[in-house]
Amino acid sequence: MAGFCAIWHHACPAVRHLPCYTAVPDLPEPPLAPLFEHLADAVYLIDPDDSRIVWGNRAAWAMLGLTPQEVIDHSVLSLQMDVTGLPQWQDIAQAIRASECFTFVGRHRHAAGHEVPVEVNTTRVTVNSKGYFLSVARDVGRRLALERELRQREHQLWFALNEASDGLWDWDIAAGTLFFSPQLKRMLGYGPDEMQPALSTWSDNIHPDDAPRVMQDLQAHLSGQRARFEAEYRLRNRNGVYLWVHDIGRVCDRDEQGRPTRAVGMVQDVTERKELQLQLEQIAVHDFLTGLANRREGMAYLEAQVALCRRLELPLALCFIDVDHFKSINDSHGHAVGDAVLRRVAHTLRDLVRREDLVCRWGGEEFLLIAPGIDALHALQLAEKVCAAVQSMPADELPAVTVSIGVAALPAHGPEPEALIAQADHALYQAKRSGRNRVLLGTGEVHH
Ligand code: GH3
Ligand code: MG
Ligand code: MG
Repeated sequence: MAGFCAIWHHACPAVRHLPCYTAVPDLPEPPLAPLFEHLADAVYLIDPDDSRIVWGNRAAWAMLGLTPQEVIDHSVLSLQMDVTGLPQWQDIAQAIRASECFTFVGRHRHAAGHEVPVEVNTTRVTVNSKGYFLSVARDVGRRLALERELRQREHQLWFALNEASDGLWDWDIAAGTLFFSPQLKRMLGYGPDEMQPALSTWSDNIHPDDAPRVMQDLQAHLSGQRARFEAEYRLRNRNGVYLWVHDIGRVCDRDEQGRPTRAVGMVQDVTERKELQLQLEQIAVHDFLTGLANRREGMAYLEAQVALCRRLELPLALCFIDVDHFKSINDSHGHAVGDAVLRRVAHTLRDLVRREDLVCRWGGEEFLLIAPGIDALHALQLAEKVCAAVQSMPADELPAVTVSIGVAALPAHGPEPEALIAQADHALYQAKRSGRNRVLLGTGEVHH
């Protein structure tokens, strides 16, 4: 039936099984008619045979802007804008007869010319042994306007969020679909019709190093441990290049059991900012010339490792390494060659040490090797290896160099990092004085 929408309902409790009586026998009135006068909804009594309105309450006349005389005895079709003729009325009447309460959503015509959107619930009543329809019409104009406004506001909000970010996502958790906004697709280099709306389209493109952390963060939010989902991670674009993104999302719907059913979020491309940040981090902790950790990073590592080894009662060794007669390399070959020699010494040192050791450039042509868990004896062996490795660097392109090394170790030369450094520095000084290209332990014992 075109033009109206019918919804089948359970019976309306207010008008069911009411005692049947009539106040005035020749004028049909619904049961409990005086009570209906106090209702805010319009109530009509309709003759099902010819669609005539035989009774109405105060709210009915007010809703139509008409007097009772203008309505009584007129067909209900004259009120309705969506029911056009008797055949359609007969279809509706049949549907009403077949149900306990029939709901009809349509429009009533007001005397002033405007429409009144109504939801009409109709039940059957018997008055004077004759069957009638009792219709209760509610003005739903305000409700519909509110719904419209809400939809519009949601649309505007969505638009604003999309503009404020590089894209939005909308995850229907229950259905397993993940919607990506066109802007988000554009950010990743995809066309509007590409990217399957599935969770895997997103998760499969997260950098493998970031994926476990991101999934853990998402899970923490879904389970209610975190108020929102927020993560910075690498996401692969259409060309296989990873972009750094900042992703913020939140569950916005839950089912009766409190399980999340929908989540929405916004994504920002932060590649430029992130790369700059990584660069700054690199600069902050690394030495530009050699790529080794810088002095600040070396000191921080030494402090942390000294604290750890003291707590665990483990030894820790420190080697202060200084290139011998380095000034003369600069003087005879130039600064650039000097730089290249420093780089090569640095790489030789780095390649020699274990993963838990750290070599930093302490300054100029001085390096510090921090070796946690190694005692003085093993540190001396390690330092000898360093000496030998530097000495045996091929002298084809760059001039040959040697190093002198001062060694100090926990617990003998500690306990503070500064004391260890001072001991190693002193041993280095002694090593220089006793001829260079040699290793000396803080105790003063000369090796070589
Ligand atoms: P010793 O055996 O006593 O250590 O003598 P040395 O010449 O190595 O020691 P000295 O401290 O007299 O000289 C160190 C030189 O290292 C002086 C400085 O110009 C040079 N130097 C420091 N930093 C750099 C650098 O980054 N690049 C280059 N090419 N030279 C550097
Ligand atoms: Mg020096
Ligand atoms: Mg030197």
